[in-house]
Amino acid sequence: MEITVKAFVRADDTVTIVCPVCKSPKNAAVGAFRDKSHYLKVRCPCETVFTVHLEFRQHYRKLTDLPGTFRSINPSGMGGEIHIKDISVSGIGFTFSGMHFLEKGHTLSLSFTLDDKKKTKLTKEVVVQSVIGDFVGCRFVEQQAYQKELGFYLKG
Ligand SMILES: [Zn+2]
Repeated sequence: MEITVKAFVRADDTVTIVCPVCKSPKNAAVGAFRDKSHYLKVRCPCETVFTVHLEFRQHYRKLTDLPGTFRSINPSGMGGEIHIKDISVSGIGFTFSGMHFLEKGHTLSLSFTLDDKKKTKLTKEVVVQSVIGDFVGCRFVEQQAYQKELGFYLKG
């Protein structure tokens, strides 16, 4: 019988895996698995073989309500006003009122102004990840480039 246990990954990408049979704990650094498979096969010194499901924390999402606009890049031709509902270093969620034909995989350019002191204007290229009702979830195309810029805002 295959045993699967869940292990919650800490913010520093370490995890404590506990053998389901002998209960002996083992610490592991699992940062390299963040973007890969979250299932690990482990053999405990007690000979028990089990699967660990690594539960990674989502990036912190800041809830917002910022007006903005979008323009579709691929396919082109769509555009309109949006409300940015959440922002993280990896992506953005917005709502759209009125008819739209956005689908997973579409590439968009979003323009909006942060509600920080400097009223920072941002234009971000994103890929649509999910569309649920009028809520559109997107991830940034170039994630690294925005870490610094948005990092400060997300701490605020
Ligand atoms: Zn064991």
